[in-house]
Amino acid sequence: MKINLISDTVTVPTSGMLDAMMTAKVGDDVFKNDPSVNALEEKVADFFGMEAALFFPSGTMANQAAIKLHTQPGEQLICDKYAHVYNYEGGGVSFNSGVSCRLVDGSRGMMTVDQVEQSINPPDFYHSPLTSLVCIENTTNKGGGACWDFQELKKIKIVCENNGLNYHLDGARIWNALVAKNEDAKAYGSLFDSISVCLSKGLGCPVGSVLLGSREFIDNALRVRKVLGGGMRQSGFLAAAGIYALDNHIDRLQEDHRKAKEIGEVLEKLEFIKKVEPIETNIIIFELDESKLSAESFLGKLEENNISIIGMGQGKLRIVTHLDYTKEMHLHFLKVLKTIE
Ligand SMILES: *Cc1c(COP(=O)(O)O)cnc(C)c1O
Repeated sequence: MKINLISDTVTVPTSGMLDAMMTAKVGDDVFKNDPSVNALEEKVADFFGMEAALFFPSGTMANQAAIKLHTQPGEQLICDKYAHVYNYEGGGVSFNSGVSCRLVDGSRGMMTVDQVEQSINPPDFYHSPLTSLVCIENTTNKGGGACWDFQELKKIKIVCENNGLNYHLDGARIWNALVAKNEDAKAYGSLFDSISVCLSKGLGCPVGSVLLGSREFIDNALRVRKVLGGGMRQSGFLAAAGIYALDNHIDRLQEDHRKAKEIGEVLEKLEFIKKVEPIETNIIIFELDESKLSAESFLGKLEENNISIIGMGQGKLRIVTHLDYTKEMHLHFLKVLKTIE
């Protein structure tokens, strides 16, 4: 039995999802006549109560297209220092949009409204870059799957409105936040100018992300997606997986969250563990007391048992639970953890 907990992106389609893919009605989406892609876009837009949506091959491309549309070269966006758009998109903010990032020293990937307000450059001070966009991430990836307080997001929205800033949500794992906090997707839809969501994380699809916004915004996003090389043809096979996941794989995220908490409880009791960060969803970030056990030998002992987790740098390790992490694997993993010393 191999247990892969490096990310929730490692899942393969379930048989139900594969059936949906194999029987999908497809067309050529570059001509916008793939019925499955059109249906997915409509379904996700409705789910968030937003006007329109566009299917993308990756979350990175969806975020990058949004940033391109919300900014002009030379401008600046505000995000937390942990943000995916800053850390893990290959420098795309500057490469694609000629934009810089004003990094906020937030907590677990989350900023306060005051931090955001203080990061806005005065628009009439022409020496500094013009601030034009605020990017939020929920749940936070590098922040350990933390969920934002919706009231804080509302306050930041008001600051954006008062300062003429666009407001983008990197919602790669928004599904986890919605389930963990029992929140309404439409409340997010009414707050943000644009939202990107991933189908290939917790929802278990092989490929795909969706960008949401106003009709006009999405019409413009179509050209940016083309420029970035993201126009796909019979992508309805992939969209069908997304439709299936939306119908079948959202509520079950609770199970991933429960397993993550149970893993956390076992980790807390191990004497070589220095710290386990709070666990709100399916991501567990923790540190070892390396005077007792080095991260390297801990990872080695897990590998001996065919269990993979991943290092995050600076002594931090990460475990992510997901759809393919079965109950059997879970019980086995907990047992193995308790034997390590
Ligand atoms: C995974 C992820 C993305 C998108 O990643 P892709 O691998 O390009 O699909 C964007 N933002 C966050 C927070 C993510 O976790």
